[in-house]
Amino acid sequence: MTDLGQRLDELEWVPRARVTPLRRLEIETIGDLLTHFPRRHEDRRRFANFPRDESDRPICLCGEVVKTQLRRFGGWKKIFEVTLQEDDANALSQPLVCRWFNLHYVQKMIATGQRLVVFGKPRLRGKRICMDHPEFEVIENDDDLSIHFGRITPIYPATEGLSQRALRALIYHALEQANSEQFDPLLPPVLSAATHRDSLRTIHFPDSLEELASAREELVLSEFFAMQMLIGSRRAALGRQTGRSHRADGKLLEKFMRNLSFDLTNAQKRVIEEVQRDLAADRPMNRLLQGDVGSGKTVVAIAAMLLVVDSGSQAALMAPTQILAEQHYAVLQRWLEPLGVKLSLRTGDRQEDSFLPLLSGGATADIIVGTHALLYESVSFADLGLVVIDEQHKFGVSQRARLTAREPVPDVLVMTATPIPRTLTMTAYGDLDVSIINEMPANRGKIITAARDEKSLGDVLTFLREQLQAGRQAYIIYPLIEESDKLSAKAATAEFEVWRERLRPFRCDLLHGRIPPPEKQATMERFRRGETAALISTTVIEVGVDVPNATVMLIENAERFGLAQLHQLRGRIGRGEHKSYCILLTGETSPESAAKLEVLERTRDGFEVAEADWEMRGPGDLLGTAQSGLPPLRLGNLQKDVELMKRARAAAVGILERDPLLEWPENQRFRRLVVEEQGRTFSNVS
Ligand code: ADP
Ligand code: MG
Repeated sequence: MTDLGQRLDELEWVPRARVTPLRRLEIETIGDLLTHFPRRHEDRRRFANFPRDESDRPICLCGEVVKTQLRRFGGWKKIFEVTLQEDDANALSQPLVCRWFNLHYVQKMIATGQRLVVFGKPRLRGKRICMDHPEFEVIENDDDLSIHFGRITPIYPATEGLSQRALRALIYHALEQANSEQFDPLLPPVLSAATHRDSLRTIHFPDSLEELASAREELVLSEFFAMQMLIGSRRAALGRQTGRSHRADGKLLEKFMRNLSFDLTNAQKRVIEEVQRDLAADRPMNRLLQGDVGSGKTVVAIAAMLLVVDSGSQAALMAPTQILAEQHYAVLQRWLEPLGVKLSLRTGDRQEDSFLPLLSGGATADIIVGTHALLYESVSFADLGLVVIDEQHKFGVSQRARLTAREPVPDVLVMTATPIPRTLTMTAYGDLDVSIINEMPANRGKIITAARDEKSLGDVLTFLREQLQAGRQAYIIYPLIEESDKLSAKAATAEFEVWRERLRPFRCDLLHGRIPPPEKQATMERFRRGETAALISTTVIEVGVDVPNATVMLIENAERFGLAQLHQLRGRIGRGEHKSYCILLTGETSPESAAKLEVLERTRDGFEVAEADWEMRGPGDLLGTAQSGLPPLRLGNLQKDVELMKRARAAAVGILERDPLLEWPENQRFRRLVVEEQGRTFSNVS
């Protein structure tokens, strides 16, 4: 039986010199080596003819080095040129010139007479076809030739001191050894151990592209399955924690609803019921509430908090910024003080209680509003029953763990307006139950979004003044990054003066990150009360701010912002009954920025915007996958493999339902067959 844990530095067929570079790639054992998956393959069974034109798609070519040349330019800079001749060259074929700039080591590796495989984009440079910095491999005619050529060849993530060729030979060798014997599958096999072993061989050295695709599918499914088992067992463990059951007669909530000037949407009602059920249960709530900007999440948060207060516990509401915390506090004061609910505000800069604490200090608030920093301070809660975390899609597992470290574990509701793609709710947020508000309040005015060239600023200004004249208010966003230096504060002030001139005699105010909090608060309050007509601001107003009479959002240099951010900004308007306008001013008309702004002109649906964003930019770490505490994916792709993720999840959920106490090892790199050992191979994952 091959021991996958076998250390490579103890094996004689692994050259000593390779051990250190292998370690740099985190390859220390046979198992590591076998799961060092190729990043791509080159079809080296037949090579394409040398191109006669440039192309944006990289191609793989093979030829003989007929000339090498080192040229200097700009004094000390060097350019190394290698001329390749196509095999079986005919009168029409043109040589290919490969060029490397300032890469000393390449020069030492390539010589006339060698045959070379190169991979890169051909470019027309004058009359020559060139490839700049192609990936390359020298063909050496030795016993190993058949490992590297004449087949679909794996290309690996490599490192200095470990060439493609050396790495490939090592992996080939390890597979040979492992294949002749038996070995445990490296991931939980979703089909059978034998199929899994075949897939592992195939993903490195496939005989055909079809075979490669199905091997990859099997392995990705296995990888996702392991991840889903981990998530599922964590979730089950969370469920076993002791929480508190908050049962209230609902009188307080009823009173609150009666005083509301609007009816709840069906989506809000449904979500409140979901939350109410969680609150009443013994196990702690761990719920993610997704709802587009303006969908009315605050009301849901308040309902949840009132249920908890009614049952005799405290609730905390946490916001990412001071402005938002202040706004929530103001809203809560307006709605809840008449009901006799005791409120308290706790931020870095301000502590305020809405009730008079008794001299004995015996009084405690029912609801505490604060910034996320609250979490890390030793704010003593007398009896914390619920924590609501607002506008925080980056609120990861570790922060939540911090909250739920206390006993009994409080219920947690995380709210976000950032639509989270399905694969991520299945992974990074997989330990949370999800509620979605998929409906906007009916009274919403339309939002018209239009991208405009900076040159038409004159027309835009005329329009803006008309709106202000009609009694509406406007946000003007300028693209200054919130830097802490004085310079940007100065630039902001200059910007403000320009706008004040433009909009005279309407009253304007300035808002940015450098303004001290009490002043910021006063500025927001003036705008909320309609005393100022326009707010010139950086993106500090991005999340959550709610002023229904503000109907114009003008964004300067809109192309500099990301799609998601623009959508968030636009969410500040269209909150009342009036028609609203989002104007995206742009000086640049590159196809990319045009495409980006066009998405916003086309749709107001946050999920559509998020999908487009995700397509244009990839997920990045925007959504906090790094904080999820999940092992990084080695093969699967969250963007492309949604269907496989669904299948893996279904399989894991099924198994955990049958055996809720099943423990899935957290830290083991290769999770052995906990499942198979228990006699449950699940060949029916589909
Ligand atoms: P978000 O989900 O972006 O946090 P808010 O909770 O701030 O949205 O709500 C936006 C605005 O809509 C607020 O002024 C709120 O009072 C109002 N609102 C909430 N629910 C409704 C509803 N069902 N009908 C009408 N207006 C509503
Ligand atoms: Mg909000």
